[in-house]
Amino acid sequence: MAQADLVILGGGSGGYACALRASELGLTVILIDKDKLGGTCLHRGCIPTKALLHAAEVADSAKESDAFGVRATFEGIDMPKVNEYRDGVVGRLYKGLQGLVKSRNVTFVEGEGRLVSPDTVEVNGERYTGKNVVLATGSYAKSLPGLDIGGRIMTSDQALNLDYVPKSVVVLGGGVIGVEFASVWKSFGADVTVVEALPHLVPNEDEACSKALERAFRKRGINFSLGVRFASATQDDAGVHVSLEDGTQMDAELLLVAVGRGPNAGGMGFEEQGVAMERGWVLVDERLRTNVSGVFAVGDITPGLQLAHRGFQHGIFVAEEIAGLNPAVIADVNIPRVTYCEPEVASVGLTEAQAREQHGGNVAVYEYNLGGNGKSQILATTGFVKLVQVTDGPVVGIHMVGSRIGEQIGEAQLIVNWEAYPEDVATLIHAHPTQNEAMGEAHLALAGKPLHSHA
Ligand SMILES: Cc1cc2nc3c(=O)[nH]c(=O)nc-3n(C[C@H](O)[C@H](O)[C@H](O)COP(=O)(O)OP(=O)(O)OC[C@H]3O[C@@H](n4cnc5c(N)ncnc54)[C@H](O)[C@@H]3O)c2cc1C
Repeated sequence: MAQADLVILGGGSGGYACALRASELGLTVILIDKDKLGGTCLHRGCIPTKALLHAAEVADSAKESDAFGVRATFEGIDMPKVNEYRDGVVGRLYKGLQGLVKSRNVTFVEGEGRLVSPDTVEVNGERYTGKNVVLATGSYAKSLPGLDIGGRIMTSDQALNLDYVPKSVVVLGGGVIGVEFASVWKSFGADVTVVEALPHLVPNEDEACSKALERAFRKRGINFSLGVRFASATQDDAGVHVSLEDGTQMDAELLLVAVGRGPNAGGMGFEEQGVAMERGWVLVDERLRTNVSGVFAVGDITPGLQLAHRGFQHGIFVAEEIAGLNPAVIADVNIPRVTYCEPEVASVGLTEAQAREQHGGNVAVYEYNLGGNGKSQILATTGFVKLVQVTDGPVVGIHMVGSRIGEQIGEAQLIVNWEAYPEDVATLIHAHPTQNEAMGEAHLALAGKPLHSHA
């Protein structure tokens, strides 16, 4: 039986970050994964989708080049070549990660693990015992009752591996994954319709962002049906036939089911070992401890935001907690969120509605329009930076829409997490001409000294 300070089940963002930090702190680590090190994010999530979105941006640049006085012709998408580029990116990162894990003396065990006692995971008949065990088995793409995945009906897992551009797609779900795929396929030339049961696209975002994205998608010719529920779908040689509850019928070549991700926490012995779960999620306290002593859980199997950088931070937190460093608790509300469709949506902290719910009338809001931002004009993008402030207090939310605006989330999250006042940020200098200036301008305005805007 192999022993270590830490046995980690799952080598995705949460699990491998925990392994790297724990070994840095001098702990011995066994990291177990049944698939490739790096998990969903590296192989089926963040990285491959963002590579496709970059290829989509290149396609759009070619199509729109005339507006910039550049003569280019868009001849189409060579999907196998796009996939080759994407696989190259993933492959280099995968190799780097494998090297990193090896160099930190983490023992990587390949195989399907099962929790057979609170301190032991069994893999292929071998037992691995840890002073602490970290559950990091991630999530899976959900479907709806009666909607079977297969053939023309697919989740992001299959959609990522298509070697052709579909002529038409219905995307079920207007959340992050749905709008990102809709954006890629539209840029690649497909006819796209998004169906969302809630009243808005990216419904978890500030309503101003949702509405701006809807305007932009409309302009791009991406169709969407909002506030209407899916009823049923059938498929045959001709395509998929989708019915909505309001009687609408849609035909397309493919149906992408992007209705959210569920916890991958069943059938691995967690319940048998007494780990408290609710609707499949592993319950943790704010220090990421399950109810079973010595057993922690990180990342997508815990209720909350499903983001790779949340997983990284969870993993680092647990390693430091076990090493006795008493790390600061991670609050979901201040974790930055970026949706990488065109245009991008980026946010951190409270939406205006949430702030009003918490602080009543004591909320000030300012929206800086990218129309006044030189770099955004150069890029020919529209959008805004919206600040939500507790009146005479700190900025508690930043919400942005625009091409490439995701890159501004770095400063936004510092501002919100350091509880900066508009006056603090107004004294800092933002380089010209960058989209980052919009962040500075918005704070200048909220501090009562607007430069290129009206207060
Ligand atoms: C299409 C898509 C796009 C995304 N884009 C972004 C993005 O742009 N930015 C972002 O922040 N997040 C994004 N995400 C979310 C991100 O991928 C997840 O939040 C992140 O991967 C969660 O990390 P994790 O460690 O909790 O789980 P995972 O990465 O899912 O890792 C879990 C690991 O556990 C292993 N495992 C499971 N069961 C067992 C078992 N019994 N034995 C051994 N191993 C097991 C799995 O093989 C897997 O490697 C995206 C997700 C998808 C699907």
